[in-house]
Amino acid sequence: MTTFENKVCLVTGAGSGIGRAMAVAFAKAGARVVVCDVNAESAQRTAADLGDAAVSVAADISDETSVSALAEAAISAYGRIDVLCNNAGIMDTMALPADVTPELWERVLRVNLTGTFLVTHAVLPHMLHQGGGAIVNTASEAGIRGGAAGVAYTASKHGVVGLTKSVAWAYAKDGIRCNAILPGPTMTNIATGATFDPVGAARLGPVLALGERLAQPEQMADAAVFLASDAASFINGAIVPVDGGWSAA
Ligand code: NAD
Repeated sequence: MTTFENKVCLVTGAGSGIGRAMAVAFAKAGARVVVCDVNAESAQRTAADLGDAAVSVAADISDETSVSALAEAAISAYGRIDVLCNNAGIMDTMALPADVTPELWERVLRVNLTGTFLVTHAVLPHMLHQGGGAIVNTASEAGIRGGAAGVAYTASKHGVVGLTKSVAWAYAKDGIRCNAILPGPTMTNIATGATFDPVGAARLGPVLALGERLAQPEQMADAAVFLASDAASFINGAIVPVDGGWSAA
């Protein structure tokens, strides 16, 4: 069995959905987990469920000051960061390029892409100092396709794929691996309270229906644990669909 004994894993967006499942899975595999979420209460709930194996940190990945404090809190709690799961993200309204507002574009790019970059940027010096680490980014099928979400989300997740490859290439000789999972539609809270652009939703509906099956967050977590583990020691820069075959259609 994969073991993360003596390893420290930082998961963003770990108060809900895929991130929560990742925190649980890494703790089960023996890691100590830094549970980060912008929603302090949900982060605390996840950490409390993991008992002594976790601490919670409320942080907004889109805010540089908050991200610096997150990295400091992780190092002050456990002294190192072996695994980073850049998982926090938000959806868009499915608006198509002619209809998206600049405000929505900025917000989605800020959280999904810049936020993922900021946390990576804050954690990399610690991994370099330690002599290694593993990063798993949660991208999306929308990171490799044009018709799986609105333009803002699609562009942000394509950016996460590019960031993944750049980090993988840049630090391959430093013992740092960086891979991405591409979840297909997964049963989480990401669409709770969402409003959709009617034009975009009508265009995207038939494509999304091809997914056929909704994944469980634990199925994403299993893939992340594998990619972060020594069993994947030569897998670096991989962009891995975890979608039950949706993208193969
Ligand atoms: P979710 O809404 O259940 O969980 C996301 C968590 O991220 C929430 O707890 C939220 O508070 C947190 N978060 C949002 N903005 C944040 C910020 N600025 N700083 C810190 N935390 C923040 O959704 P989920 O489906 O579990 O989403 C996790 C990741 O999976 C996202 O990157 C999402 O784009 C990706 N994804 C989800 C699906 C799906 O169908 N659910 C499909 C493909 C990709």
